[in-house]
Amino acid sequence: MAAAKTPLLSVRNLEVTAHLRRGDQNVLSNISFDLGAGEVLGVIGESGAGMTVLSRAIVNWLPAPLAVTRGEILFRGNNLLNMPEEDAAKLRGKEIAYIGSDPTTALDPTVPIGTHLTAKLMAVKPEMSKAEARQRIFDLFDAVRIPSPKARFNEFPFQFSGGMMQRVMIVDALSADPALLIADNITQPLDVTVAKQIVRLLNGLKEDFDTSIIFVSSSLPMAMDISQELLVLQQGKVLERATPQDLISNPQTDYTRRLIEQVPRIWEVDHTPPASVSQKPILSVQNASKTYHTKDPDKVFGTQAVQAVRGVSFDILEGENFGIVGESGCGKSTLSRLLSWIEAPDTGDIFFDGESISAMDAKGIKNLRRQFQLILQDPYTCLPAHKTITQIIGEPMVIHKLAAGKALKERVAEVMQEVGLPDDTGNKLPFQLSASQRQRVNIARAMVMKPRLLILDETLSSLDQLEQARLLELFDKLQKEHKFTYIFISHDLALVRRACSRIGVMYLGRMAEVAENEELFFEPRHPYSRAMLSAMPTLEKNRYDAATCLLDGEPPSPVNIPPGCSFRTRCPDAIDACGKVDPKVTLDGTTQVECHLFE
Ligand code: SF4
Repeated sequence: MAAAKTPLLSVRNLEVTAHLRRGDQNVLSNISFDLGAGEVLGVIGESGAGMTVLSRAIVNWLPAPLAVTRGEILFRGNNLLNMPEEDAAKLRGKEIAYIGSDPTTALDPTVPIGTHLTAKLMAVKPEMSKAEARQRIFDLFDAVRIPSPKARFNEFPFQFSGGMMQRVMIVDALSADPALLIADNITQPLDVTVAKQIVRLLNGLKEDFDTSIIFVSSSLPMAMDISQELLVLQQGKVLERATPQDLISNPQTDYTRRLIEQVPRIWEVDHTPPASVSQKPILSVQNASKTYHTKDPDKVFGTQAVQAVRGVSFDILEGENFGIVGESGCGKSTLSRLLSWIEAPDTGDIFFDGESISAMDAKGIKNLRRQFQLILQDPYTCLPAHKTITQIIGEPMVIHKLAAGKALKERVAEVMQEVGLPDDTGNKLPFQLSASQRQRVNIARAMVMKPRLLILDETLSSLDQLEQARLLELFDKLQKEHKFTYIFISHDLALVRRACSRIGVMYLGRMAEVAENEELFFEPRHPYSRAMLSAMPTLEKNRYDAATCLLDGEPPSPVNIPPGCSFRTRCPDAIDACGKVDPKVTLDGTTQVECHLFE
């Protein structure tokens, strides 16, 4: 009988304990699993499940007060925990590589990227000459598709975007040909399209380099994309291990079932449009642009122009729920400041009820502020800490001299009831409330004015999925009662799918597409809308194949936008004209699209 093959990594009964002043606390208990050469194991769970602690325990990088208190970590049969530190250190970085979730702080900001990478490579492979090490880094830059490798080699970490830095960290990890790569939540801080590109890249690299991977992720669809098997962790314990297909079709625990249920659905969701939408625009944005002048990091005294919003035009109809989506840096937040007139556009204008806002006098703007209300993302910092909830909710009425005394109290009590805040919340201070209750206070503070237009800027992003669903129901109910219009700005396509009747897709300061909900999700016109949908982490069969819809690359810098269509560098459908001429806004049915293919 042939001898059983020794796994590359074998974790046996691993226990990690936090030594706290109030006593010891188990963080990982009795973790055991094997990983063979060339295999990929996904580790999934909610935050706090112990996934990062497990990854760091394997590379002996646990911060105090955490320590391994029991068990074995066998790498090629040798226990890393008993090994002299000198021998274990030789394995780390050479045979075992680790990439964390925050690439931006991983390297010294004062040293060029190439210097970092060659120094590390020559340290683990002293037999390599400097020229060989440089060539190896250039080859790996090519493999992970970092454009212009020779130029980027000499750039500093701050000159790389988050997605590009994550690629640099992959180059750093792979440069020494490790047998095992631990990728600890590496896609978490990235936009969906970039996250999908990184997973696709790792999938290719595991074939090319025959590296075993432990892929830690709080996103089940991302982990399924790359892993042969999945390990489910809850509160530091392994609940089950299964292939992705078995895990989905036959989950063994309620916790796994909950993880599966939490994955957003895009195409299986029923979308109910709001009851009454008029064809009359309440807000009309016409050719609005905004440029900021910031310090140029490459010059001692110079400034640079950041083109945040570039000639955007669209209407928001009275009574509708209008969504604005796009990746970070696309100009959503700047547009929200223009829409709420916190800042005026440099060129173009915004019309409210057909009246130009830029032509309004101070009295007109004050009157406008009564009708517009903005609700921001962070429920912790947007409430004054020293005021009671009743005072906070009533404040706008006081500022606009709309009510005082008993009438004010009654209005505040009424609106608190409408948003589901218990009566006894009124005398509390913000710190006594949960994040969700604070967000309800923000909603009440906006609703107290009976606004005609609500602007929700990532308002639900900091809440868990259950609370997001509850607040969406609340907006639905309030909208039916009060017939207001709302603009829902979010990076989360699944939320926008559930909440909005029409959606605008932003890309690099432009409105690439404005379409009705069903049109956008089932018949997207713009290649960027398709790319974004193809990258959605979902368990449904994606209608758009990332292999054809999603190209590599990231948006150009808003400081240096090339001529022609700004999506050209990532567009699978680009034609000659795309590099020369800006696409115009074209109407295709009810869809507004900026793409040469529709002109
Ligand atoms: Fe792609 Fe050209 Fe359309 Fe831009 S204009 S989205 S590059 S096809």
